[in-house]
Parts: sequence; structure tokens; C-alpha cells
Amino acid sequence: MLKLIKGAEVFAPKNIGKKDLLIADGRIMAIEDSINPSSVYSSCQVIEADGLQLVPGFVDSLVHITGGGGEGGFHTRTPEMSLTDATLNGITTLVGVLGTDATTRSLPNLLAKARALTFEGISCYCHTGSYQVPVTTITGSVQDDIILIPDFIGVGEIAIADHRSSNPTQDELSRLAAQARVGGMLSGKKGIVSIHMGDSTDHLELLEKVVANTDIPITQFYPTHINRNIGLLNAAKGWLEDGGYVDLTTSTTDMDLANGEPRCCEALAELLKDGFDVNQISFSSDGHASLPTFDDKGQLSGLKVGSEKSLFNEVRDAVSQFNIPLETAIQVITSSSANILGLTTKGQIRIAGDADLVLLEPGTLAIHSVIAMGNLMVSEGQALIKGTFE
Ligand code: ZN
Repeated sequence: MLKLIKGAEVFAPKNIGKKDLLIADGRIMAIEDSINPSSVYSSCQVIEADGLQLVPGFVDSLVHITGGGGEGGFHTRTPEMSLTDATLNGITTLVGVLGTDATTRSLPNLLAKARALTFEGISCYCHTGSYQVPVTTITGSVQDDIILIPDFIGVGEIAIADHRSSNPTQDELSRLAAQARVGGMLSGKKGIVSIHMGDSTDHLELLEKVVANTDIPITQFYPTHINRNIGLLNAAKGWLEDGGYVDLTTSTTDMDLANGEPRCCEALAELLKDGFDVNQISFSSDGHASLPTFDDKGQLSGLKVGSEKSLFNEVRDAVSQFNIPLETAIQVITSSSANILGLTTKGQIRIAGDADLVLLEPGTLAIHSVIAMGNLMVSEGQALIKGTFE
């Protein structure tokens, strides 16, 4: 069915003013100052959006879609996500990853969950591998996984600078990145190497050595959790100056913030003030990761689950608390992430792009409606379509 969104202020993500959008077959067919529905088709569904702001559907580049964690024993494995964890929070594109545990969780399970979410209406991709090197794969090689499995767009998150890392050598990481790069080239994908950054003070040194000593471009790597601490955030500035990408994690705990972790909105304000390009910066939710908290004696005192809701909350706070224009702030969860991942039909409102869209209420920036691949998933903040078991 054809859909016409009438009269929204469109952020593509640049603000292009008040427009009408025509959607057909999951794609954006026209963007005009005014489109008359009767001139299009008599049964065209019209969504009146006068007074609302229209932004691209959000791209969350790192989510533990099958659950993550388990670092406090089997009972601490977090549950898998549901469709509305994404859609109610404006997320229309996800990248699923394994994480620490590639023993009790598997890539076939990750792939099945990604296909389930895609069947239910959003766009879900995955990375092969997990924290560890040597890397776990489906076909036996990272390169073959990326070439042969359409859902797999990269590898990771590979953990470095972390006590949970498998401590890959520079050579191991170089070879891994080469496999992802060639796999991506041969299948028309980016073959991005997602890197989980831990708390160690060597920060990005290993990645910098790989880039300095090979012909692999810095843009092959996508380090995440960059706002984990001030030291890492500062180290990331050199990486950005060299043209690298950085990803900031929106899920956090009060304990982490009290221990000095900068919030994403605050870190973004600082990076933009320092003159860095928003196209190199993204946010991801780390949704459904486990977020352990520890007491004064360092004992595990509680566990929380990473929230997809945090993704847009941090963008909203970047606008309301740090006066970053919406058209800039929204890029870190739309065009920046889509470009970094090589998802060419995502993250922008443009003709022939996928009809993944979010309507926001101006002022509060509350999520009003969410459209994924042309289907209305959320209207007036309520889920119209739910996951199979919701
Ligand atoms: Zn991680």
C-alpha cells in the first residue's frame, strides 16, 4: 500500500524544511513540497504529520540481540531482545553481536534471531566472530562468512585492551582485518571490524600499530565504548584526527557515571567543540548487554541489562542539555552509523532509500510514530506491530 506522510519538518538528517513524503514498496518514492494524495492513488494511506519532525529511522550498530553477559555465572546471561525493544525506541536497523560468550551462545543462534527480527519488520544484520581471536565463525573463515552469508556485514566485537580480551597480537589482528576487508570487497559490503575497547590504559595502541604497519585503512576499524573513561575518550581524539571512526555507548549505570564515565551527550558535545567531524562519530546502545555493578569491596552487587531506549535518550539530551542542533545530533544514530557500516539504503531520508522513518514531537522530542520498511510499527507512542511472542 502507498503511504503519504504529509507536512512534517524533514531532517534528512539535514533540515530540508516542510515536505510531503510518498512511500511505496518499502522505499521512499518522492519528497516534494506538496503531494496531493488523490493524484497518487485513491487508497493511499495518509499520515498527517503537520507540526511533527521527521528523521531517519535509527541505526543501532551494536546490540546483543540474543542476550549477552554471563560474566557472573550462568544465571547472569541476559535475555534476548524483542521487536518492540527496538521499534518503541525508534530503532529500525540493528547490528547483532555475540560478545564475551561464544561458548553457550552461537553464531547460528545469532543469525536465526537476526532473521526473526527482520521477518517481524525491522532490518537486522550481524557480525561474525565474538570477543575472541581466533575467531569463531560459521563457515570456518571470517572472509567466507562475510562473502557467503548475506546477513553478516563485518566481524566483532573483537575485545582488546580489556581483561576479558583474548589478547590478540598485532599480526593476528592485521590478518583478521584483512579477511574482513577482502570479504567485504568481494561481497559489496564494508566488512567492518568492530572493536570492543576495555579499560586498559594502552587504549587504542594496538589498533594504531596495525594501521601504521599494514595497508589496511583506518576506516576498516570501528572501536566502540570510547566513552568508557576520560583517558580512552582523550586517546580517541588522536584516532579521529587520523581519520578513524569512533562509537560511543549509550547504556550505562549510575555507578559507572559516578566513577567518571562521560555520558554520550556530554562526550559528543566535547568532540564537536574540539572540531571533530560528526560523520566519524556514532552512538550505539550495547542493548541487552549485562551491566554489572559492584559494591565498595569490589563484590558483584547487582546486574542491569543494557537498554535500547538509551540510544535516542542520549541524542535528545545532546539537543536539550548541550544545545547541539537536532540535524547534527541525529546523525550519530542515523547517517554516521549507516555510512560507517556501509548500509547505503539506511540512515538518510532520500528518494529510493528504505522507508525507515521516525516522527518526533517538537520540543520534547518524544517518539510519535515509527515506520520500518514502509510499515507503521508505532503510532502515537504505541506499538501497532509486536514481536511473535510479545
Ligand atoms: Zn563490548
